[in-house]
Amino acid sequence: MIRYLKVTKIFPNGARALQEVDLGFSEGEFAFVVGPSGAGKSTLLNLLIRQYRPTSGEVWFRDFNVSRLPGRKIHHLRRQIGMVFQDFKLLSQFNVYENVAFTLEAVGKAQREIRELVPYILELVGLADKMNRRPHQLSSGEAQRVSIARAMVHEPAVLLADEPTGNLDPQTGWQIIELLQKINSWGTTVIVATHNREIVDALNYRVVKLKEGKVVADQVGSYE
Ligand code: ADP
Repeated sequence: MIRYLKVTKIFPNGARALQEVDLGFSEGEFAFVVGPSGAGKSTLLNLLIRQYRPTSGEVWFRDFNVSRLPGRKIHHLRRQIGMVFQDFKLLSQFNVYENVAFTLEAVGKAQREIRELVPYILELVGLADKMNRRPHQLSSGEAQRVSIARAMVHEPAVLLADEPTGNLDPQTGWQIIELLQKINSWGTTVIVATHNREIVDALNYRVVKLKEGKVVADQVGSYE
């Protein structure tokens, strides 16, 4: 479903974020991407949503050659791949409902559909009773749930999470991982970049380990 073929990414400042990475992810998989800070985890995820282009090599998502996708088609790709971040990236002037609705308005969905879909998605992530709150009135765990709701609103085939528990206490972090597992159980492919060793070691998922831009391990179940 997702393939990285000899992908190298060198940033204009000379940073070698990824070096000849060959990697694939299957439909419905739950995988962790681990490694120290600067290992290339974020770059790997961002290449898949065409935030960046590889310096060489190819990135494929289904039949999209992501690295060569014309600009006018990027939104098709991004509707199929949701992404959440460590710092949530919510719009502070909007309430919870509006933060999720905004994504649908941006693609021209009818208000009638938006009024049905947004409460439904917020219910799924456990926030049906917080729709009118603004981001500063939410706990960090709740803010991350909003960002997950927003990423899921187009029912993407893939959900990418870049350090989703990075700003959360351990208990809240676990609740977010449980939500990601629930989303995966519905058939969504979930890829989580993290250096949260406790979570990775406690679960039995595939763990792809990056170091200095290279895949140094690809195994099931443990960070090491
Ligand atoms: P990780 O997510 O594992 O912490 P990153 O993918 O963020 O790693 O970074 C990999 C390397 O690429 C680091 O050396 C980082 O400084 C560099 N890098 C990442 N993004 C950029 C960017 N936009 N511009 C320049 N260098 C970058």
